Amino acid sequence: VRYLQTENHDSVRFETSSAKTLMDIGTRRIFCSDHDIFRQSVRKFFQEEVIPHHAEWEKAGQVSRELWEKAGKQGLLGVNIAEEHGGIGGDLFSAAVVWEEQMYVNCTGPGFGLHSDIVMPYIANYGSNEQIKRFIPEMTVGKCIGAIAMTEPGAGSDLQGVRTYAKKDGSDWILNGSKVFITNGCMSDLVIVVAVTNRETQSPAHGISLFLVENGMKGFIKGRKLEKIGLKAQDTAELFFEDVRLPASALLGQENKGFFYLMAELPQERLMIADFAVASCEFMFEETRNYVKQRKAFGKTISHFQTVQHKLAELKTQICIARAFLDSCLQLHAEKRLDSSTASMGKYWTSELQNSVATQCLQLHGGWGYMWEYPIAKSFVDSRVQPIYGGTNEIMKELIAREIVSDK
Ligand SMILES: Cc1cc2nc3c(=O)[nH]c(=O)nc-3n(C[C@H](O)[C@H](O)[C@H](O)COP(=O)(O)OP(=O)(O)OC[C@H]3O[C@@H](n4cnc5c(N)ncnc54)[C@H](O)[C@@H]3O)c2cc1C
Repeated sequence: VRYLQTENHDSVRFETSSAKTLMDIGTRRIFCSDHDIFRQSVRKFFQEEVIPHHAEWEKAGQVSRELWEKAGKQGLLGVNIAEEHGGIGGDLFSAAVVWEEQMYVNCTGPGFGLHSDIVMPYIANYGSNEQIKRFIPEMTVGKCIGAIAMTEPGAGSDLQGVRTYAKKDGSDWILNGSKVFITNGCMSDLVIVVAVTNRETQSPAHGISLFLVENGMKGFIKGRKLEKIGLKAQDTAELFFEDVRLPASALLGQENKGFFYLMAELPQERLMIADFAVASCEFMFEETRNYVKQRKAFGKTISHFQTVQHKLAELKTQICIARAFLDSCLQLHAEKRLDSSTASMGKYWTSELQNSVATQCLQLHGGWGYMWEYPIAKSFVDSRVQPIYGGTNEIMKELIAREIVSDK
């Protein structure tokens, strides 16, 4: 996997608007031929190891542990985590290849992105040497599955309203509270839990800390797997903490700095959701292009109707424009220049586009689009959560607006 570090970009690469399909390998100037080789292997992995089992996982409400270990063996977890920390040591673009390829097979079950590009960076960026040594290598091989628990039944958008409380007891902490909607929750071996550690501060933001809570700790209870309208194979759970005794070594980073760590890491989460959105649009477009070229009505394929053609023209234009902005966000983030407002624009706009594309592509499938056996039906329900999680789109607009009217 050393080739992932290569800086050598090829001279001429098509952008998606000029490529034969929106999912072609070898396109987009942010990538180079080494990424293409990696993409080929990731594509093969999702086609061979995920597609054949996904329907079964949808019924089970989660993927298999075996899949996580296979992904680890293949080098698909912790791609963008430094090698010296026990990750793969690839660049951000390589991580994006994994996000996009998962969307290109339309299989949302594996919570790899959350594990690799949300949970692992907290440990790599704020963890002690011991925490890094203990967890990162195990997470890279897929033996330790990560989750992050911010949301509570009474606090989602308003993160400063969390009630889960960790009280000091000598050098230990005693954790009490509950979390909801936690991705990878049931399967998790390690959960980053957001908890209040100081109730006396003027602003709640100054009294929040992060803790590493491990599966099996006394008082850490996994609740029911939540039944969702989409993301059927993705494990989303409730978690309860009843007098969980945590050693001092479970604190991640510094006491009372948790809220600031969250604010620093959330742009990457939003960028990933946005890349999921655009890649999903690319998938839905190609799926629909193929469908209208074979579906017949009134003696010809429906791709001959001008209204259908114009609809496809509109969709392709919108998706390619979204891709151009997103690739620019990926480039900025690779250079550590992506600000919170720009990441929020990407998440808000592309996730709205994804839902609009899903509605229109499903419509072009007619009644078959409403049938679960057609991939577009799954894309349609899976799209719906994108404007909600990772910060709702209303909150994204708050963040964008705050920057617009700021006098600083
Ligand atoms: C499938 C799924 C997976 C998830 N995974 C995780 C996870 O792994 N970890 C985790 O911690 N959380 C996770 N979440 C939770 C998710 O991040 C929250 O649902 C989200 O942040 C919204 O919080 P809420 O549901 O409490 O809605 P609320 O905050 O109650 O919002 C309700 C409505 O009010 C609006 N609203 C709230 N405040 C404002 C405001 N100031 N201005 C304007 N409108 C506002 C919202 O935009 C929304 O439309 C997941 C959720 C889902 C559905």
